[in-house]
Amino acid sequence: MYEKLIFILACASFSFGAAIASFLNVVIYRVPIGGSIVSPPSHCPKCDSPIKWWQNIPILSYLLLMGKCANCKERISPRYPFVEFIGGVLFLASFMYIVPSYGFTLFSLLTLSLYWIWISLMIVGTFIDFDHKLLPDFVTVGGMILGFIYSVAIVLITKVNLSTWYLEPFWNSILGLVVGFGLLWLVRFIGTKAFKREALGMGDVFLMGGIGSIFGPVAVLFTLVFSSFLGAVFGLVGVFLGSKRIGSFAEIPYGPYICGACLLWMFKGPEICSWYLSLIGIGG
Ligand SMILES: [Zn+2]
Repeated sequence: MYEKLIFILACASFSFGAAIASFLNVVIYRVPIGGSIVSPPSHCPKCDSPIKWWQNIPILSYLLLMGKCANCKERISPRYPFVEFIGGVLFLASFMYIVPSYGFTLFSLLTLSLYWIWISLMIVGTFIDFDHKLLPDFVTVGGMILGFIYSVAIVLITKVNLSTWYLEPFWNSILGLVVGFGLLWLVRFIGTKAFKREALGMGDVFLMGGIGSIFGPVAVLFTLVFSSFLGAVFGLVGVFLGSKRIGSFAEIPYGPYICGACLLWMFKGPEICSWYLSLIGIGG
């Protein structure tokens, strides 16, 4: 019975995530160009024909329409179903990470909500950063506020500590915000002096402040290390594919790497830290 319920809720989590991501596609596309996210209703950018409800089902409609507008056959970007799929998978992963471990409790519900909201904001931030090289304030400052609200709520309802490492949730959040913002601000300051140009966007500084506020100072250090690592790996891949010349200061958005590293923290961070600490002989 319990397994059946978990299975049904897991399927529902995937569907919900894909549906939310379908809306996030609209946010990603319209907010940076100053458009409204509610009107006009979805329409084909080429022939303006409205998209009917059955043509707007996440992932499935794209497959049914074989990636083309039903009216004018204009190609639809595969990024739309891709974002919907990512949303579905990450909502499902959050559910499976939290609920089987903590059961059907208020703590589970709060933490799952935090994961789902923050994942949604990171999806928006990542793709807007790819498109426009900027991170909207509602993502980064939103993260700071989210972390604060969550930590207060956790202190109020329970004494459970989820991967906060030794600190009370509230102080973990405050310290995380200070360390995340401060550290990245310092990197930006030194980098800008050294390269005589803006080395890191202010959006990245705010984003790390948000991550610190939600997950604490240890997550900040973890995210800093792994985002640099991801950036280096993808940078090298880019060099091999010939898209970026070595030594050129092509402006590569850093936000998506920060978000990628943050996801790694959310699902595997504390395990990776324990493994690393036992490797260098501290703790176990
Ligand atoms: Zn069309």
